[in-house]
Amino acid sequence: MSGRQGRLTVLAGPTAVGKGTVAAYVREHHPEIWISVSATTRPPRPGEVDGTHYWFVSDDEFDRMVDDGELLEWAVVHRAARYGTPRRPVEQALADGRPALLEIDLQGARQVRETMPGALFVFLAPPSWDELVRRLVGRGTESQEERDRRLQTARDELAAVTEFDVTVVNTEVHDAAEELVALMVGQ
Ligand code: 5GP
Repeated sequence: MSGRQGRLTVLAGPTAVGKGTVAAYVREHHPEIWISVSATTRPPRPGEVDGTHYWFVSDDEFDRMVDDGELLEWAVVHRAARYGTPRRPVEQALADGRPALLEIDLQGARQVRETMPGALFVFLAPPSWDELVRRLVGRGTESQEERDRRLQTARDELAAVTEFDVTVVNTEVHDAAEELVALMVGQ
């Protein structure tokens, strides 16, 4: 142990803004930053590796983790699967003096604000509303109803910007990721 406590940073933002892509860039280019691996009940997508992208767990195992207090936060995302942050590895990374990053949804970010108010909360924002709409409904394969639902969700999610300490605009992944890293290590 270095004797110096690392700092926790929470990256959140609206659906489709590119949080996962920014986190993937940081994972690839900044090994000095520790990135939390979430537990999820959703099945793996092709190419996703257990323990690298997520810990893929059953509903029963997720229940157990919740009951045993193993999760720092958790939420049902997109009304589908449950996602949560294992607490112990985060505490270990911080004790080791490493800057630690959580890439989670807004509900999870609000929970972390309650339990770890000293964390840095970074909101990843789209360059414009029109661009977010394009990223959200770009393929145009959804029904009008689904499209309206997504847009309403996006409006609500964008309004959460005021709850955060800093906003990073994701115009270009490389720039947004480097800005995030500078915030994390420069504090
Ligand atoms: P995906 O299924 O596309 O990998 O992720 C869907 C959403 O789940 C993303 O918005 C991501 O931020 C969120 N997410 C991933 N891990 C966690 C977690 O541990 N906790 C919470 N609250 N959200 C998460």
